[in-house]
Amino acid sequence: MEPFAPVVRPEDGGRHEGRERNEGTATAGTENGEKGRPMPVPVPLLADLRPWRRFAGLEAGFSTRLGGSSGAPWHSLNTGLHVGDDPDAVIRNRRSIAGRIGWPFEAWTSVSQVHGNRVYRVTAAVRGRGRERQEDAAAEADALITDVPGLLLVMYYADCVPVYFYDPEHEAVGLAHAGWKGIALDVVGETVRAMEAAFGSRPDRLYAAIGPSIGPCCYEVDEPVLQRLLPLAESLRKFGGSGGEALTVPARPGRAGANLKEFARRLMMKAGILPSRIEISRWCTGCRTDLFFSHRREGGRTGRMAAWLGIRP
Ligand SMILES: [Zn+2]
Repeated sequence: MEPFAPVVRPEDGGRHEGRERNEGTATAGTENGEKGRPMPVPVPLLADLRPWRRFAGLEAGFSTRLGGSSGAPWHSLNTGLHVGDDPDAVIRNRRSIAGRIGWPFEAWTSVSQVHGNRVYRVTAAVRGRGRERQEDAAAEADALITDVPGLLLVMYYADCVPVYFYDPEHEAVGLAHAGWKGIALDVVGETVRAMEAAFGSRPDRLYAAIGPSIGPCCYEVDEPVLQRLLPLAESLRKFGGSGGEALTVPARPGRAGANLKEFARRLMMKAGILPSRIEISRWCTGCRTDLFFSHRREGGRTGRMAAWLGIRP
């Protein structure tokens, strides 16, 4: 079952499908029903992390590209300020997401993402930074952690892997952005270790999730990237199992299919997270450009989805 499920709030009146059909491009996906029968899945406008709904104090989710104000090629719910889109449209889109999940926009807190492995601890002092202007971002980092309620950590994605962590014992959260560079630099493990250091989190008590991102079906890497990922794949081999290959056999010389979600899962396990506590989205952003922005599939000119994670005040 896809862990990132459409958000249905009482005020939506369950009218997701109708509203999204107005977008004109989306078609409902299917997944296997309880008896193996395909059943329609409402196209998500926003997706929240369904297995984590049981954590009443948490807000965790991911946006699609649907239902926003941006024109092509950022159509339409682009949340990235750094991709050439009209900033007013982006801010309108961000506000609309905050409104739909019932959070004040003032809580929306972002950093400049640089494909590194730096972890930034978000405090109340920087609440709301980066929500309207990129220059105002709280820091340069690719992972955010906090134990302060009322802060909505938000990062931006178009194929890269959204990585979520929750420590229910210390009421602390972590959110990371992992493309191949972040994977190679182990931003996943760095985030876990930063939560240990900052909050006393125990990795084996953490919950983790991997959001919609590009799948191995759509992500071929070239020789230089392959050379960076090969030794990592080798060192993570013992964490394999049911998750499939992290790197697939080269289809052509010097090329390989990379499964960044599987790399992230193995890095989580290497950091001490129990496989039973890891949720993985099956959405591939490259396969579903009707639902998601894909940097790879759309030649770099596209928008960004938002991942958010916060402790309710
Ligand atoms: Zn794909």
